[in-house]
Amino acid sequence: MKMLNKKCINSAFRFAVKPCCTLLSLLLLLTGCAAGRDTAPVSRTGLYFDTAVEITIYGMEEARANELLSECMDLAAHYDRDLFSAYVPTSLLSSLNRDCVLSVTHASDPDFLRLLEMSLDLERETDGAFSPCLGGLSMIWNFTGDPPGPVPPADEIRQALTHTDSSTIRIAEGAGQLLSFDALPEAGDFTFMTADDPGAAAGSDPVFTAADDPGAAAGSDPAAGGDDGFLITLTDVGLMLDLGGIAKGFAADRIKDRLLEAGVTSAIINLGGNVLLVGSKPDGSDFRVGIRDLESAADAGGTEHITRTVTLSDRSVVTSGTYERYFEEDGVRYHHILDPATGYPADSGLVSVTIISADSATGDALATACLVLGQQKGQALIERLPGTEALFIAADGTETRTAGFPAE
Ligand code: ADP
Ligand code: MG
Repeated sequence: MKMLNKKCINSAFRFAVKPCCTLLSLLLLLTGCAAGRDTAPVSRTGLYFDTAVEITIYGMEEARANELLSECMDLAAHYDRDLFSAYVPTSLLSSLNRDCVLSVTHASDPDFLRLLEMSLDLERETDGAFSPCLGGLSMIWNFTGDPPGPVPPADEIRQALTHTDSSTIRIAEGAGQLLSFDALPEAGDFTFMTADDPGAAAGSDPVFTAADDPGAAAGSDPAAGGDDGFLITLTDVGLMLDLGGIAKGFAADRIKDRLLEAGVTSAIINLGGNVLLVGSKPDGSDFRVGIRDLESAADAGGTEHITRTVTLSDRSVVTSGTYERYFEEDGVRYHHILDPATGYPADSGLVSVTIISADSATGDALATACLVLGQQKGQALIERLPGTEALFIAADGTETRTAGFPAE
C-alpha cells in the first residue's frame, strides 16, 4: 500500500452513506447579489446518500445550467446507488461485502478502486483513526435503524473488532480468475496468489490467481490502467467495508470535475453538509459559508443558529459532528463516529470538526478522523497537510483553529 504524501492527500477523497436525512451542519449564506449580473442562479435539489443534495450554478444560461444539473444529479445517484451505498444490495460495495470478491474493469468502474485506495491511504495517514473497514461495527451499532441501537454487547464489539484489518484486503491488477471458492477460509487463512507474487501461495491450494501476464501487475498502480481491470478480494471473510465516512465528499469532487469540464466558473455543491465551492461568486467575491453549531443549539432549546462563518472560494468545507446521528441509552449518548481502536463511539472531547481543503473527499475523511483523534493529535495532523485547515469545537465550547483557518 502506498504512503499518502501531501500531494496525494490533497487529491484524496472520502464520504458517508447514510440511510436517513440528517441535519446539515453547514449552511450557505448567500447574502447580497450572489447571482451573475445577467443570469439568475439555477438550483436543483435531490435526495442521495440519504441526505439532501443541493447544487446551484451561477452565471450560466438557464437551459444549459438545467442540463448540467440533471447530469450532476445522475452522478450523485450513480455514486450512491451503483457504487458506494452499504444499503443498496446491488451496489458494488454491497456486492463486495457479500461475495468477498469483486472484479471490476477500469472502463466501467474506475472510481470504485480509486475511492478504496484513497480510503486506505487516508487510514494510514490518520494512524487508523479513519478506517474504511468498520462495516461490521456499524452494523451491530445500528445507528441507522428505526429505532437505532441498542448498545451492542461488549463481546460482540470485541468480535467485530477482529475483522477490521485493512491489510487483509487484496487488490490485484487484472480481472483474475476465480478457481475455487469452496471451503471458505477462516480470517487470515485465505490463500491469494497474485501474478507478481507467485511464492505467496506456495505450499497451499491457490484460491485466486490474478492476471495471466506477470508483467501486467508488476510495479503498476492498479488504479492507473490496464484493460483487465482489477480484482479486489476480502481475504478476511468477516471484514465489511463502510465508505460512509468519505463517499459524499468523493461524489462532490466528481460533480465539481464535471462542472469545471463544462465551463462552469461559479457554483455551490452541497451534499448533506459537505460544501464544495466552484470558483467564487460571479462578481469575483468570496462565498460565505456558515457553520451551524447544532450541539449548542440543542442545549439552548433546539433553535439552530449560525455560530461561525467563513468566506472563501473554490474550496471544500466539511463538518463532522457527534450530533449528526446518535441514540441515547440510560442517559448516555452514543454517536455514529466510531473509534476504530475501541469499537465504541469516539470519546475525544470534541463535538465537531470543520475541515477546509482543496477536495471534499479528503476533507470528509479528515473531519471524521479528527473527531476520533481529538484536538491535539488532530491539529498536528492537519498542520502537516498544506492547504488544509481545521476548526475544532470541544464539548465545553472551547474552540481551536489551525493557523490558516480563515477569519470570520
Ligand atoms: P456524516 O456522514 O454524518 O457527515 P462523517 O462524514 O463523519 O459524518 O461519517 C460518519 C460515517 O462514517 C458513519 O456513519 C460510518 O458510516 C462511518 N464511520 C464511522 N466511524 C468511522 C471512522 N472512524 N472512520 C471511517 N468511517 C467511519
Ligand atoms: Mg462527513
